[in-house]
Amino acid sequence: MEQWIDKIKEALSLEELETLRVSIFGKKGELAKAFADMKHADPAEKPKIAKELNRFKQSLLKAYEDKKTELERAALQKRLEAEAIDVSLYSPRERGGALHPVMHTMDRIIEYFTDLNFAVETGPLVEDEFHNFEALNLPDYHPARDMQDTFYFKDGKLLRTHTSPVQIRTMMHQKPPIRMISPGAVFRRDFDLTHTPQFHQVEGLMVDEKGKVSFANLKWILEDFLHTMFGDVEIRFRPSFFPFTEPSAEVDISCIFCSGEGCRVCSHTGWLEVLGCGMVDPNVFKAVGYENVSGYAFGLGVERFAMLIHRVPDLRSLFEGDLRLLEQFR
Ligand SMILES: [Zn+2]
Repeated sequence: MEQWIDKIKEALSLEELETLRVSIFGKKGELAKAFADMKHADPAEKPKIAKELNRFKQSLLKAYEDKKTELERAALQKRLEAEAIDVSLYSPRERGGALHPVMHTMDRIIEYFTDLNFAVETGPLVEDEFHNFEALNLPDYHPARDMQDTFYFKDGKLLRTHTSPVQIRTMMHQKPPIRMISPGAVFRRDFDLTHTPQFHQVEGLMVDEKGKVSFANLKWILEDFLHTMFGDVEIRFRPSFFPFTEPSAEVDISCIFCSGEGCRVCSHTGWLEVLGCGMVDPNVFKAVGYENVSGYAFGLGVERFAMLIHRVPDLRSLFEGDLRLLEQFR
């Protein structure tokens, strides 16, 4: 029987020990057999044999428990070694995020106007025809609607094509004077080198008693704004047409890539168009119920500003989410 104690002591793994446990202590194991064999013994000897067997069982159990503890400890040690982390290992630096150039540019534009006490107003991205078109002097037969083709919903609602509806909503809820900008996302059915279906605008509006707000005010603020954003550039106002302003103008800056010499970016004109603006059309004031007021409005595309400020040649690269590009703006 001593051999069983040796076998337990020599077990190499918990699995092996378990097999031994079954064959020694199990129902049909060695111990059970030994106890069963007692019935052939001389009755007078039985108590002595039983005592011996029980003592032997105790030493077997102790050997088993000791071995089990030893093997478990070894297994744990092995696992700890396998899962250990070497804190001295080199790890490449985490790539941190940064504000997207478009958002950063938007923040700079907002900051300029809030410094001049313009309020920042926002509105819904899903608009109705009235706020997006009709109130802005764009009735449904107007050809300019074609240039602002957008995405429609079944109930006639649409994704706003500009942030101008925010100005309509603000004027309908507030009395003049109004001094506000409306930054945000807008949508058009467009996709090519210089157009994306979603882009961002900042529009501005100033309304006060008739005669208090003039084109001269508009010209001054836009010139100061463009010098703040682009530095020492030349600025020109070109007559243009927008349904919601009269008179209207487009604003150009001298090309920042060629200093007005002419290059591919400015189509060899030396000028880059950056803004649209004008005096608010009387029909717009009529639609919101304003009387005896005058005002100016302007609007710009934030992506275009971001491209010019950061000299990004392809608009689409701003939306590809390529970290190699975006990391440069940190
Ligand atoms: Zn140029």
